[in-house]
Amino acid sequence: MKDVNAGIALCENCLFDSVKERAYRVFREELRPDDRVLVALSGGKDSSLALYLTKMYSDDVGLEVLALTVDEGTFYRKASIQIAKKLASSLGVEHVVVSMEDVHGISIEELHHKLPKGHKRSACTYCGVLRRQTINAAARKLGATAVVTGHNLDDVVQTGLMNLIRGDVNALSKLFVHERKLKEGLIPRVKPLKMVYEREVAALVLALKIPAHLGKCPYTQGMRIGIRRTIDHLEEEFPGSKLRALEVLEAMAKSYKEEVKLRRCEICGEPTTSRLCKACQMKKELSEILNKSLLKPLELRL
Ligand code: SF4
Repeated sequence: MKDVNAGIALCENCLFDSVKERAYRVFREELRPDDRVLVALSGGKDSSLALYLTKMYSDDVGLEVLALTVDEGTFYRKASIQIAKKLASSLGVEHVVVSMEDVHGISIEELHHKLPKGHKRSACTYCGVLRRQTINAAARKLGATAVVTGHNLDDVVQTGLMNLIRGDVNALSKLFVHERKLKEGLIPRVKPLKMVYEREVAALVLALKIPAHLGKCPYTQGMRIGIRRTIDHLEEEFPGSKLRALEVLEAMAKSYKEEVKLRRCEICGEPTTSRLCKACQMKKELSEILNKSLLKPLELRL
């Protein structure tokens, strides 16, 4: 295996040490000694490795860790939930599963099948927003003070560039934790794998035999696919491009000083910058298209 930083071949042990060091650097900078950490665990390779490393770090420094899986209701998620349960139980971590249908009144499977052909947004776009809100609301209800996600270097650079292309500096600034102020119910998100290439995550999960679902969600769609292709091509031509892009994106995000004023969504009460949060704006749109009332406060049965 190749060390991405030094360009040298690594054995499994050295790859593990190198990835662990990068993850621990993030933990040391972004977690506090009294944190109660919720790991967003899909059961896929990235979040499974994130949970594995978070548990290891928490055992070293004495943090509380629990895991949460959002069941979007897709046939794909069924298998990964079983794997997530197995991993959490083998690590001795409390694991909670929350259903998107219970919380928002619709599953992504139903949405995918009922959206009219040629509709401007895919089920995946709705899913991303509803899932993010579910994780934040569940984290708050579970008393978590930080949410760990499995986003790797490839994911973070793709999202950062998508924000740049859309001209959404506010979203770009929220991609990285730079101050630990709890803003109006928004729980800070920590990404221990943000300096770890996706292929390193895959190699390590296999080498360590960490239970993980290795498939891809069949509903992935949108701008991300094209961006991913372009960035992969750049990395092949100019090795190290992704790491350099991460540094620049992070510096840009940190230099964004504008204080975003948060308020409560008039429908669900979740934090937002406008009258209605993004999830309720989307559910309003869906209620009209699907002729089904989805606008109501979140129902979190935890
Ligand atoms: Fe949801 Fe899209 Fe992720 Fe699938 S890829 S789980 S549809 S956000």
